Amino acid sequence: MIAAILDIFLVAASPFVGSFLTAASRAWPDWNRVVAARSSCDGCGRTLGPLELVPVFSFLFQRGKCRSCGTGIWTLHPVGEAAAIMIAVTGVLATDGWITSLAVLLGWALLFAALVDLRTFLLPDVITLGLIPAGLAVSYGLGGLDELVWATLGAIAGYVILAGIGLLYRLLRGREGLGMGDAKLLAAGGAWCGLLALPWIVAIGAGLTLFGVAIASLFGTRLSRDLALPFGPGLAAGVFFGFLLARSPLAAG
Ligand SMILES: [Zn+2]
Repeated sequence: MIAAILDIFLVAASPFVGSFLTAASRAWPDWNRVVAARSSCDGCGRTLGPLELVPVFSFLFQRGKCRSCGTGIWTLHPVGEAAAIMIAVTGVLATDGWITSLAVLLGWALLFAALVDLRTFLLPDVITLGLIPAGLAVSYGLGGLDELVWATLGAIAGYVILAGIGLLYRLLRGREGLGMGDAKLLAAGGAWCGLLALPWIVAIGAGLTLFGVAIASLFGTRLSRDLALPFGPGLAAGVFFGFLLARSPLAAG
């Protein structure tokens, strides 16, 4: 019963969480700007009314523009809001009990990191490093010492694999390929999902990143070998789905 109420609460709160996370990701690392990042127009500075703040719908209703000056609304606003809703709905459908809350909170934290990465090509340490002890604690809480060992191995291996690839790339190509933020994020993935989930996380992350590149090229982004593309958003999605795969009663069947 409590779990059902919590499920409803998570889904009902998700559009507003998404709106806040997107605004915060846009202001990061200047938290003082979080409120301004969503509550006023970028073009004319007009304070937005309550209807213009309704997540997703306000964007569609206004066709992505300010009603006074026509300045475009930041594209990631509806994307972040819609993603936050999908995270809550997926978490509720795929998991049971307290794991649902954990999965949704993990998903929202990852969403914030992914949005920051899309904008700045940096993953915030506060999320990637913060998720490592949180994941170890969750693994211990759900599976005792046994799972804590797998989670610890996963965190170490996740970091070493991507940091190693990044270092190798830098030596061979003489420039940054994979950021250390990606390595910290995969370490968090290992901590939440365990060592054995790492291949899944990387595979999902790579698949979604390539899918994103395909979509971007459809919209006219020219592809070249020097194209910089953030791996963080795909990897973040990989960690979220990895946790669902590891913890869902649907996947265990
Ligand atoms: Zn305006």
